[in-house]
Amino acid sequence: MDSYVKLLLSNEAWVKEKLDLRKDFFQSAVSGQKPEFLWIGCSDSRVPAEDVTGSEPGELFVHRNIANQVSESDLSVLSVLQYAVEALQVQHVIVCGHYHCGGVQHAMQHEGSGVLGQWLAQLKAIHRSHADELNRLADGALRFDRMVELNVAVQLRNVARTAVVRKAWAEGRGPHLHGWVYDLRIGKLKELETLQAGTDLSTH
Ligand SMILES: [Zn+2]
Repeated sequence: MDSYVKLLLSNEAWVKEKLDLRKDFFQSAVSGQKPEFLWIGCSDSRVPAEDVTGSEPGELFVHRNIANQVSESDLSVLSVLQYAVEALQVQHVIVCGHYHCGGVQHAMQHEGSGVLGQWLAQLKAIHRSHADELNRLADGALRFDRMVELNVAVQLRNVARTAVVRKAWAEGRGPHLHGWVYDLRIGKLKELETLQAGTDLSTH
């Protein structure tokens, strides 16, 4: 059996499982979505947003890319954010990085080339600008973990600085912004920081 066939077979089993629990499971999906959360995470196969948060279809609006980047030149993440904030009116945006992130590691160790190099340029800039702090750490593993956390902090502020979030905050609306990291060594999510709606970025 080709390996991909197991995905189709698993889907059939999943449909049956859902219908056994609730006969109208899929009919309710047709009527629309009202997720409370936007998840911006890494594409890494070991960090499936719904699984690690125990979320069902309809609960998370999700954007994933390599190393959970939020760039003002990336129409994909910006359009997801605009739709989530303005149309779905999500109350919480979660930027979730993860330890052992291959994208972060690559940016720390290599001069990037091609499209991937361009994609990781922001990470390389974060690495350079925090070189003093990182070099004070005892070993490479600690530096790697810290770099993952610094990346989340930067991307969280990138979300806060978008026109969409600034407009929502100026009008007294959400979302609140959450910086998390997933530790795939133990399966746990850790909260790094929260920027409440309306946070003055000049002091954060
Ligand atoms: Zn990653």
